[in-house]
Amino acid sequence: MSHPAPIVIVGTGLAGYSLVKELRKLDKETPVIMITADDGVSYSKPMLSTGFTKGKDADGLAQAETAAMSEQLNVTVRTFSTVTGIDTESRDLILGDERLRYGKLVLAWGADVIRLGIEGDGQEHIHSINDLVDYRAFRKALHGGKRVAIMGAGLIGCEFANDLRNGGYEVDVIAPDANVMPSLLPEAAAKAVQHELTELGARFHLGTVVDRVDRQEQGVRVTLGNGEVLEADLVVSAVGLRPRVELARAAGLNIGRGITVNRALETSAPDVFALGDCAEVDGQVLLYVLPLMASARALAKTLTGQRTEVRYGTMPIMIKTPCCPTAVCPPPKGAEGEWQVEQEGSDVKAVFKASSGDVLGFAVTGRFAVEKQALAKQVPPIHQ
Ligand code: FAD
Repeated sequence: MSHPAPIVIVGTGLAGYSLVKELRKLDKETPVIMITADDGVSYSKPMLSTGFTKGKDADGLAQAETAAMSEQLNVTVRTFSTVTGIDTESRDLILGDERLRYGKLVLAWGADVIRLGIEGDGQEHIHSINDLVDYRAFRKALHGGKRVAIMGAGLIGCEFANDLRNGGYEVDVIAPDANVMPSLLPEAAAKAVQHELTELGARFHLGTVVDRVDRQEQGVRVTLGNGEVLEADLVVSAVGLRPRVELARAAGLNIGRGITVNRALETSAPDVFALGDCAEVDGQVLLYVLPLMASARALAKTLTGQRTEVRYGTMPIMIKTPCCPTAVCPPPKGAEGEWQVEQEGSDVKAVFKASSGDVLGFAVTGRFAVEKQALAKQVPPIHQ
């Protein structure tokens, strides 16, 4: 007797595991195979930028071993297996020489870190941290060191700056923009976060870039575009992420900024779905946890026969800079209106209002951070 082809999920990050958890609430039996290029250990990626603050190393941040996840969720997890292609005609996932037949295929393979072409012979001292394996390597490389240079002052760069200061490291942050987190925060809130991180001891070099990283006897010499030269034990590159789309593009799937899916998480190929950091859901690429959780709940229903569309509500982003608690709900791109700012020192309440008076977004720092829930109620959902 032939068995039905399984549901195959590529990726054991928060998107992949959240989907299986939701699926198993509805269907305990349908065979599920999970494929991952990494070790399949379950962890919460946002916690990677809190290790020192919480006193946890890479092992401490791991939540469950792969075998435990496999047993608990009744799924097969194939670790260290890299997908190299998809044949949507024959419904095969291609893993090197092997072909794996799928009944339904879910792409939850995340986003790649952007790597800048930096001059110099210190490349192996530049670390990007986008999973637990990267974090383990970073902590090992940091052992015995004291000084970290961070490229990028976005959410991840600022969170690592705070966490590394809490761990007692010297921190230099280098970024080309005039303010931290320029795509997330209005200027007043950005200045408040930068001020508090500076008070904590982080040094900012804004409006310039890293030109070279050269090896030294101890660590590296980091040369900036403005001529400054810094010394560090290692460099963290936190210059952004890009949804993984290449294999999907090669398979003929529609691609935008991510793998294009509709609100039912359906790609342009039959029975192929995508969610999480790799997906562009009805025009939205949101590299955060709340959107992928909402997607996982909807897709679990679809995979069990009840086609369901995801609807993103209002999704505030909490920035884990404990020296300056911050929450933001950015207004939609291109929204017309203006920021209205109330400020006392590093306590900022910035509300983005349309000319009608409607609240379209907000950013709150310091003592105003507690108002995030009340403000979020006033912001319209992402999916109307
Ligand atoms: P990933 O976790 O990247 O999982 C991708 C999976 O696909 C992995 O298992 C990988 O091995 C596998 N894979 C990739 N390519 C292949 C292939 N070819 N073959 C087989 N397997 C493959 N979001 C928030 O909402 N709040 C926060 O506070 C927050 N903080 C963050 C802090 C840091 C330091 C970082 C890096 C991110 C943070 N984020 C935060 C973002 C959030 O963590 C991500 O949006 C989320 O974890 C993405 O999950 P994912 O499952 O889509 O991707």
